[in-house]
Amino acid sequence: MSTPKRVLVTGGAGFIGANLCRRLLDSPEIGEVRVIDDLSSGDRNNLSGLDVTFFEGSILDPEILQAAVESCDSIVHLAAVPSVPRSIKDPVRSHEANATGTLRVLEAARSNEGAHVILASSSSVYGANPTLPKSEDLMCQPMSPYAVSKLAAEQYAMAYAQCYDLPVLPFRFFNVYGPLQAAGHAYAAVIPAFIDAALAGRPIPVHGDGSQTRDFTFVDTVTAVLQDAIIRQVTSGPVNLAFGTRTNLVEVISLLGTALDSKLKVENSPNRLGDVPHSQAANHLLRDLFPNIQPVNFATGLRQTVQWFQECEISS
Ligand code: NAD
Repeated sequence: MSTPKRVLVTGGAGFIGANLCRRLLDSPEIGEVRVIDDLSSGDRNNLSGLDVTFFEGSILDPEILQAAVESCDSIVHLAAVPSVPRSIKDPVRSHEANATGTLRVLEAARSNEGAHVILASSSSVYGANPTLPKSEDLMCQPMSPYAVSKLAAEQYAMAYAQCYDLPVLPFRFFNVYGPLQAAGHAYAAVIPAFIDAALAGRPIPVHGDGSQTRDFTFVDTVTAVLQDAIIRQVTSGPVNLAFGTRTNLVEVISLLGTALDSKLKVENSPNRLGDVPHSQAANHLLRDLFPNIQPVNFATGLRQTVQWFQECEISS
């Protein structure tokens, strides 16, 4: 058996990062899990009870980043200021964390004997391009500063692969959902915002008429792909990390009503600037690279997410 790998997860106190840390700690191929996080949107409690080496600080701080990266085999780079509306409010902050931050991570990897870098880009890079499904070779037409920062991040990674032979793997995440995804703040993603409202007995807040479609991916499916990518040191150009499903928000609310056994009220508000109307991944590349990963279906993932929210309610 090969030597267990040392992995750094940037943004590891966030939603996807903390789910990933849990999975990696259960993996015999992984010897140490490190996290660097500035706790700007993540929460230290997401990692409570987990045996991770925690570096509290920003990826924009070269000293702490270098200490975190030292002698790591792989870096899963998730740290970012997420959300389209946040980037419209403060584009410079999004650029610094997402684009400059990625450049810093790539530099740290380059000076650390070329560690493998897996990074989180986003389906938002396709933006105004109306073609469905979104295949990786489509022209990108970002509609927000967030999308531009993610496109810059993945393109920096590809440039490092070209210029320095750095092993990289940019993933375009679509709508990831599941336990640990924060609700109750202005920038909450759609699924936690819906569940939070439903459990509190408030109407479900829908921007637009709810006909917009998304390719929802359960977080366990995403972390299974990331784990496999680390263990097999997979490298590639940008890869969609979603399985080609297309669910509109009206359907999400109906499934949520079934999971909660209640009839949910809806409150519609105007569409948000920068939001794309429809999103669905072409998944050939993902299936080719990760043939053994089977996605969790949406109804099952939604039920597990609702259950997690209900357990949090009981324990708070
Ligand atoms: P999240 O906000 O829960 O996690 C991001 C983490 O990064 C947080 O813990 C935050 O504190 C940390 N962070 C932010 N700036 C930092 C900095 N300068 N230095 C160190 N840490 C910093 O978000 P998430 O949903 O877990 O997203 C993870 C990644 O996936 C992000 O890059 C996001 O853009 C990308 N993504 C997520 C989705 C989704 O549906 N959740 C979709 C597309 C892309």
